Amino acid sequence: MTDAAASPSVRRLSEWDAAELRALRAEYGSPLYVLDLERVRENARRLGAAFPDAEILYAVKANALGDVLETLREEGIGLECASAGELERALAVTDSGVDVHYTAVNPPARDLDWVIDAWEEYPELTVTVGAEDTIDRLADRGYDGRLCLRVNPGIGAGHHEKVQTGANAKFGVPAERALEVLEDAAERGFDVVGIHAHVGSGVSSDQLDDHREFVSRMGDLAREVNEALPTDLEFVDVGGGFGVPYRDDEEPLDLEAVADATRDALGDVDATLTIEPGRYFVADAGVLLTTVNTVKDARDTTAVGIDAGMTTLLRPAMYDASHPIRNLTADVDAAAAASNSETPDNGRETIEQTITGPICESGDVFCTDRKLPASERGDVLAIGNAGAYGYEMANQYNSRPRPASVVVDGDEVRLARRRETIDDVTRLEHGARSASDDSSGDPTE
Ligand code: PLP
Repeated sequence: MTDAAASPSVRRLSEWDAAELRALRAEYGSPLYVLDLERVRENARRLGAAFPDAEILYAVKANALGDVLETLREEGIGLECASAGELERALAVTDSGVDVHYTAVNPPARDLDWVIDAWEEYPELTVTVGAEDTIDRLADRGYDGRLCLRVNPGIGAGHHEKVQTGANAKFGVPAERALEVLEDAAERGFDVVGIHAHVGSGVSSDQLDDHREFVSRMGDLAREVNEALPTDLEFVDVGGGFGVPYRDDEEPLDLEAVADATRDALGDVDATLTIEPGRYFVADAGVLLTTVNTVKDARDTTAVGIDAGMTTLLRPAMYDASHPIRNLTADVDAAAAASNSETPDNGRETIEQTITGPICESGDVFCTDRKLPASERGDVLAIGNAGAYGYEMANQYNSRPRPASVVVDGDEVRLARRRETIDDVTRLEHGARSASDDSSGDPTE
């Protein structure tokens, strides 16, 4: 067991064992996601130490692999789900629905039907709604279970405008209408248990003032709700969004400072503080291994083509995200050369490289003009901080199969999800014309 508070608050790509990663690539192929479950545990324990009185949920969307969910359940972490599919995964690793939340974001009818069936079996489940008509749609289906209201506090935060949700019209009921909506829901017989907001993803230590302001608005609202409703709220959920450093020169988040600011800003509310980070648990527990296919002199740079692309790891193309990249082959060769003085120096020249994927899109680029040891065809590269929103956002564009995932747990290594084949990609079309179409229902019901 690792001492939670003592585990380093960030695991940099340079700290992974290059030879072990190369061996995984040799055994399981490329590209390959690798996830270290012990690091997931360390991150969970550090969060638990910083927020000892809080209820901690894991936002499943960051990495829904069953091994991750099981590992976090064993650490006493609850699960927050954004779809029926995520809920199915969460319920597969729990005995009851306690600590399992479903956050309905503009939910399709099929999701709500599925959730209602699940609630009949798991009545402890909590449903978080972000629109009044979602409450009506739940009532139409006979739901009167645990209800939490997602509010839109009017403050957004995060590393990119595409992840700032707190002021985005899509998410939540405007905070100024929340009390009225909750009173109405309570009168209609719903079991009103909480309020929720998530302002964005990738919040850094220098955004603490916004965080304080947002949490204090949630505290004010909770006090108003507790005065107005016959029963007190069980919890105030302030979402996730705890940032992790993607660049080597970025400092890790000061978790204690975030925890102190959260507690102070919430004040004396008679309700449990709930947090639901995703990325913080898994980002630095994962790397993506990939192989160099092509090296060529382009006009102003060296263009290096690898076998992972925006279909494997979407974040650089979607958010202009910068991930650390390391040439494992060059590092292993350099270490071998250094340990054998008879061998001539095998260190490679460091040159600027633009690393691109195999997708026929100009946005399929992992970095531009980054200084790295000169790549050679066949080299194995590692892309760091790939444990969060990596495989989850992988897709089959260009009819590319998705990669395999392995998990490492101490000395044990196992294939967690096999590599897709081209047959997997085309399989759904086979017989589609004769199969009955289950998409005919009205999605607005
Ligand atoms: N909760 C909600 C409602 C979210 O939408 C998200 C991310 O989009 C999270 C939690 C987790 O965010 P993060 O992974 O940045 O902690």
